[in-house]
Order: sequence, then C-alpha cells, then structure tokens
Amino acid sequence: MQIKDLCTNCNFWTITTIENDGKIATFKCTHCENSFQMPWDPNTRLMIRSIRHSLKKRTKKYPELVNLKYHGDFIKLEKKSDTTPKPGQCK
Ligand SMILES: [Zn+2]
Repeated sequence: MQIKDLCTNCNFWTITTIENDGKIATFKCTHCENSFQMPWDPNTRLMIRSIRHSLKKRTKKYPELVNLKYHGDFIKLEKKSDTTPKPGQCK
C-alpha cells in the first residue's frame, strides 16, 4: 500500500510505502529511503485512514500533489495562507 505523506526526514511530500507483516508496519519514503516502523494496530490503521482523508482536502488546496505519482517523486509545497482579504478594509 502507498500513501502520499510529508516525510519528516527529507521534508518533501513523497510517496510513502507501507508494508506490514500483521504485527509491524514499515513506512518507507521512496525519495530519501528513510523508514520507520509502527505497530500494526487499530491506531496505526486509523492514522493511515486519516492521512488519506486529509489528502483529499489538501489536494484541493495544493493541486501540485496530483503530480505525485511514482516512487521517488517528491514535491515541495509552497505555504499558502488561509486568510482571504476581508472586504471593507481598504485604507
Ligand atoms: Zn523522505
């Protein structure tokens, strides 16, 4: 299985692969090959689900994420502010 996630090691958005043997899940960034392990339990599965869920919202905000397709791809997202100019504030 793979997800798109922000790698804490290389700080890029990359394809992260997740493999599990039923007890341990191994997450691996396909860009910098940093890997870490977590117990394969309901909490971890919930976390993966929430990453996938929030990705939909995030892709709307950052359409660049659509370009993240293949192992090794990496994207740096520009920070966008959520604040929109409020009307009535032109001085
Ligand atoms: Zn990485």
